[in-house]
Amino acid sequence: MEKADFRDFVETVRERSDIVEVIGAHIHLDRHNKALCPFHDETNPSFSVDPKRGIFKCFGCSTYGDVFTFLQHHLKMTFWESLTMLAEQAGIPLPNMTPEKRKRIIDNRTIADIRFETAKFYHQGLTTEADNYLTEERRFTKETISRFMIGYANGGLRKHLVEECRFLLQLCLEAGVLKRDDNGKVRDYFYKRIIFPNLKHGRVVHLTGRSLNDQGPKYIHLPGEIQYLYNEDALYDKEVLITEGIPDCLSEVQAGYSAVAVLGTHQFKEEHRARFKPCTTVYVLMDGDDAGKQAAKKIGRILADKAIIVELPDKLDLNDYLKNHSQDDLRELKESGKAFLDLEVERLKACPENRRLEKIQEFLPVLADVSEFQRKHYTDVISREFKITKKTIKSYIQASRIQESQTEEGEQVEDKPSYTDQEEQEALELLKDPNLLERFNKMTEKLGCVGEENNKVMLYLAFTSRILDDPISLYIKGDSSGGKSFLVDVVSRFFPAEDVLAFTTITTKALYHRTDNLSHKVLIIYEREGAEESDYSIRSLQSEKKLTISLPVKDPETGRFETVDLEIMGPVAVIETTTKSHLHPENETRCFTLFIDDSEEQTKRIHKALITRYSGVRLPDLAELRVWQAAQKELKPHPVWIPYWKHLKFPTQPLRMRRDFLRFLTLIAVSTLLYQHQRQKATRDGVEYLIAGVEDYATAFVLGSSALGRAIKQLSPKAEELLDRVKSSVDGDLSKLLTRRDIRELVGWEHKTVVKYVKECVGQGVLEIGEGGNGKTYKYRFIKSPDETGGVLLHPRELQRLIETEELSNLSTPIQNADGQVNALNKSELDQPIQAIQRRTVPVTESPPVADEEEQLPLPLTNGQVGQVDSSDCTPNN
Ligand SMILES: [Zn+2]
Repeated sequence: MEKADFRDFVETVRERSDIVEVIGAHIHLDRHNKALCPFHDETNPSFSVDPKRGIFKCFGCSTYGDVFTFLQHHLKMTFWESLTMLAEQAGIPLPNMTPEKRKRIIDNRTIADIRFETAKFYHQGLTTEADNYLTEERRFTKETISRFMIGYANGGLRKHLVEECRFLLQLCLEAGVLKRDDNGKVRDYFYKRIIFPNLKHGRVVHLTGRSLNDQGPKYIHLPGEIQYLYNEDALYDKEVLITEGIPDCLSEVQAGYSAVAVLGTHQFKEEHRARFKPCTTVYVLMDGDDAGKQAAKKIGRILADKAIIVELPDKLDLNDYLKNHSQDDLRELKESGKAFLDLEVERLKACPENRRLEKIQEFLPVLADVSEFQRKHYTDVISREFKITKKTIKSYIQASRIQESQTEEGEQVEDKPSYTDQEEQEALELLKDPNLLERFNKMTEKLGCVGEENNKVMLYLAFTSRILDDPISLYIKGDSSGGKSFLVDVVSRFFPAEDVLAFTTITTKALYHRTDNLSHKVLIIYEREGAEESDYSIRSLQSEKKLTISLPVKDPETGRFETVDLEIMGPVAVIETTTKSHLHPENETRCFTLFIDDSEEQTKRIHKALITRYSGVRLPDLAELRVWQAAQKELKPHPVWIPYWKHLKFPTQPLRMRRDFLRFLTLIAVSTLLYQHQRQKATRDGVEYLIAGVEDYATAFVLGSSALGRAIKQLSPKAEELLDRVKSSVDGDLSKLLTRRDIRELVGWEHKTVVKYVKECVGQGVLEIGEGGNGKTYKYRFIKSPDETGGVLLHPRELQRLIETEELSNLSTPIQNADGQVNALNKSELDQPIQAIQRRTVPVTESPPVADEEEQLPLPLTNGQVGQVDSSDCTPNN
């Protein structure tokens, strides 16, 4: 998993799991998401689920938590089990993880549990004095105190956590709630303080202690960096307030607003912006002093178009203000607030002219992340007010974006998994297994991905091809419920996570912003809706193997903007899933197309797999997948030699078959690469080649007879059905002319459907218009043979026979390997069938092969690229 750490992973799983759905699968929730509590006996429902905050809570027995907690309590699972189960259900692959990292995730969860238990303990320990302070001084209601679990630290925490709750002392110390004093004695971290736990999604993410009698610092926090704002659960509302202190925030929440607090004015950072995504308006209510004003400006810069700055009068903080003012006063005050961007423009106007340009340059980056509409508005305003061309303004904004993204990338530390010696050893053994692809298919079934053998193998080869200079790209087409993403997810788990980049939606900007190296990676793009914009980028990455963009960038020395060319280096293997049937043709021709199996049999297989999954069958150990990932690391790019290329038959019509033949050869080459630890090598002109086996041909052949067969023809299953039906009815006379009406009668479909698929067949060059037009009825006929793949492609057994007899005698000519030794091709290898993909029926051709290729044919395949050589020069060392 790229740069993201475990926290992101756990968060992603949480976000993608619908808590109502998860809990609703176990207990009956009414339409208000209430239920009889499963954790204590009751007759009136006091258990409720809050989907907005992602938590459940029981007012009867005080059980409280998130999706994971629910499964832990209800199914008596460990946290890890609940995490893997939900990740699986959400279709999120588990990231590469060392056992240490896994332990870290579990420990972190335990630390969160310790903090929660601490908050509960202190909440139950509220003294009368503390309670009076909260209710009288701060005017908090009982409900607020209970909802936010406000408590009082009065000692005794160690005994409670370690002796009663049996948490490991070490983890309690790590959680920060206990500490060792100078003499090594374990003590409470907070003592004689009001405790404000910070709750997020039902977890306690932080604790803050306020002194009651002004002894020591007013506020102290748990040690370590503060990552969250106080009460971030409020960030689901459109309108939110930001206050400076926790009591201010609670006063607002109590008055019915959604509010968060910054825990210290320096705490608000750039990365917080993303958390405000659901909010459209954010009122910034900092204290009325200079520090507060500075803080408001900083927050404004980060939230930009969302920020409304509200100034509190007379150096008051909000909690004080509300002691002498009503909520109506506050509403009026809020309405007097000014949009941060307007305030900035005012400031620029007030700025002395000689410093203004500099200030404008400082300001413009703020517009990089605002809405298109706002950016246009403020570009207009600044252009008009300060007589700067819009083009210049635009370049400032763009340049700042690139600079920002560059620093982000620079700071990013790649999280590369390292493999143990044993894992590498097992990986090598795996690569030496002739049944590697069969094992792969079995593993995918263990991961719940059943059927689709050919599609899975095709995907596996495409992922593997990323190491080539000319990788395979795939489109996976099918209905939205067909399980495309799941299929891709499962296959991607067999590859090192750092080699796979997934985009759920992709925009040109997203690609342009990746100025790092994409070279030899797999780019997964889920769904195509709204992604047309990025077509150009992807095409250029596929064809030019790099993407060049010109952008103005500020020279740090002169302060001037200069245009620089940024390059994003490919090549990349692109895997795209889509519900669309037609894609940009130029893009599509660089790709293979797979169609998801939508048969009823496949649905049955999926159902069966689902039943097994929830009946307690354990998923394969992650360690097993690590071996597969390590195996991919052992594969090296290598030029491939296909010694029998000349004898391969391939359709010669229509014209596009030339390119399709290259695709077919690419498949053979990728298979050879995958089996590189089992294939012979030969050196010629100082270049060492891997020699493709008949097995590699067989793989390409089987894929070519089903999935690839369609890919070659680029036909949808429906169009193929039309062709099949029509063909079987014309009695072998393929030149027969048919009207659309004839076809309609043959297939029995609606007129509209027939028109659509006839059009597709004509477009793909399998039907042609024989006569008609100019007012006459169109008549169609077959274009000969490209669809008769089985009849044209040489069957592997036939190829094997050729190799064994005289017909490919040049093949049995000894060839020199890298060590100068002379080896014959190992014929016994040819007897190894590729079982994983032989399950499907394969059309067998009995017709004798005809080698009729006169023209120059491409060969050899060098790192997947195809060179031209003289056809007389087709074997090494001849
Ligand atoms: Zn309960």
